Amino acid sequence: MADCIFCKIASGEIPSTMVYEDDMVAAFKDLEPQAPTHVLIIPKKHVVSAAELGDGDRELAAHIFCDVVPKLAKELKLSNGFRVVTNAGEDGGQTVMHLHFHLLGGRSMQWPPG
Ligand code: 5GP
Ligand code: ZN
Repeated sequence: MADCIFCKIASGEIPSTMVYEDDMVAAFKDLEPQAPTHVLIIPKKHVVSAAELGDGDRELAAHIFCDVVPKLAKELKLSNGFRVVTNAGEDGGQTVMHLHFHLLGGRSMQWPPG
């Protein structure tokens, strides 16, 4: 999508510190890390949020959760645990309107979230 910052990161138009990339997804370091490890995993195609995922996205969702998350957790040495979170819409606190999964680790997380 033309004016989407994460589409531009996925295409390389905007620089980022990429930690993983394949034909479906990109994963890069968050600009304002909230934990010692804070990576954003995004689909390369523009999807607004988790609310927009549908039947055609099963392969994508499975790839993210069955392949990319465990691979990155291992590579980033999050053996003590981690959190994956996606914010959707206004109440979810979403600020970038391109689906992304925060992968956070390297410290103990609190619950409930704010
Ligand atoms: P949200 O609040 O939508 O769940 O998360 C958006 C995340 O994107 C925030 O954690 C923010 O720091 C990150 N972010 C926003 N703009 C950029 C950018 O240009 N580059 C990178 N690497 N992260 C960004
Ligand atoms: Zn986008």
